[in-house]
Amino acid sequence: MNLPEKFLEHARQFAGKDYDAFISSLSNPVQTSIRLNPFKLTEQFSTEENVPWSQHGKFLKDRPSFTLDPLFHAGCYYVQDSSSQFLEKPFLQIKNTNRDPLIVLDLCAAPGGKSTHILSMLQKEDILVSNEVISSRNNILRDNIFKWGCSNVIVTQNEPKDFLALKNYFDVIVVDAPCSGEGLFRKDPDAVNEWSEENVNRCSIRQSEILSHAFQSLKPGGFLIYSTCTFEKVENDDKVQMMMDEYNLIPISMDTNFAGITNTGNGFTFFPHLNKGEGFFMSLLQKQGELSTTHKRQERKKEKLSVYAEQFLSDSDEFFTLNKEERTFLIPHIHAGTFRTMAEKLYVRLAGIYLGDVKGNFFIPSAGLSLSNHIRKDIASVELAKDQAIKFLRGEPIKIDSPIGWTLARYKGFNLGWMKNLGDRTNNYYPKEWRIRKG
Ligand code: SAM
Repeated sequence: MNLPEKFLEHARQFAGKDYDAFISSLSNPVQTSIRLNPFKLTEQFSTEENVPWSQHGKFLKDRPSFTLDPLFHAGCYYVQDSSSQFLEKPFLQIKNTNRDPLIVLDLCAAPGGKSTHILSMLQKEDILVSNEVISSRNNILRDNIFKWGCSNVIVTQNEPKDFLALKNYFDVIVVDAPCSGEGLFRKDPDAVNEWSEENVNRCSIRQSEILSHAFQSLKPGGFLIYSTCTFEKVENDDKVQMMMDEYNLIPISMDTNFAGITNTGNGFTFFPHLNKGEGFFMSLLQKQGELSTTHKRQERKKEKLSVYAEQFLSDSDEFFTLNKEERTFLIPHIHAGTFRTMAEKLYVRLAGIYLGDVKGNFFIPSAGLSLSNHIRKDIASVELAKDQAIKFLRGEPIKIDSPIGWTLARYKGFNLGWMKNLGDRTNNYYPKEWRIRKG
């Protein structure tokens, strides 16, 4: 690996006496890890080694072709570096000490690693606002949210400053900040090519801006989880220090009683020479004050629901219908208030379950619905063998014996998407943008 001279100078500072071990670890192979979806538990990885700080995290012995595994497309797991999965420790600490429902903001959310992890830890009374400002990345975020299958989520596409409209609102804010990406050097050669001292400084300025906006939206007594995938002090410990000095945030200790996690001052760093995963930094802070439930959970009056909701959902009476042009969404009653606030103040890209599209007299169920954890179990379905499932995921027509109408394509009991049997042929409704293109 051809590392920039200036980076080596920086590494001498942050790695200290471990400098040689650190540099040599950058040539080691990357350890693949995944995190299972607790709502779609599969036995597939049961014999693999656990990630010590993540209940559903697994280190894999080899890197399989995820693209050619139907369970990956079914949302049974997310491919995520083990260090990033450390989010579980501060998050559960917050959850276990605050019994009231949480409104959580993941401010820099795409592609969705932290958001899907947060959803795995939330109860249905809690809600996640998952935000990504860049449109193309927001699309990927939504795809991953669909695959996770939860309904207590709102995806927005806003700049951090737009959240100034929501002062003192969120119980927890996760800022997984855009950074100089030194922790990705092993995985991504572009991260090395794009590295420069100027970029480290640019990232540091941007992080200060993002954090100053996040601070305003955090409730008194609320928690800020700050993380990066770099080793730079100006982007890590110095940012935490800034939050303590300028905003009076209080650092909160976390359970870091695991081998290989280094306290670098105001937070914890995962170095690749001490850890199986990639480079990562995380810190937990609290805003002064006492956390109180100020949000009224406004129950909407029971109103007429889309007939399709009853047809497709197992718990349809827990939702209300929102129509946006031809698209129909189902939003949990208990989150009506949060949804209304978000829709007033922000650009909402997805809320609750995307049920489908009504075109004239026709209803086309969405791909998101097929992957939802709320879909009825008794909908017509066909269990596919692996080669058929791959064909389905490629968007190819498959010959199946199924009832007329909408049918779920399944693999090992997990839904993949929709097919429609028209009598003389069966159409494949797997979305074009999700199809496998790999040979
Ligand atoms: N949390 C994500 C996960 O676990 O999958 C990774 C987030 S990545 C480190 C940082 C994200 O911040 C990127 O998706 C990037 O598009 C977004 N971003 C870039 N500039 C930003 C800005 N000025 N404000 C907020 N987010 C920004």
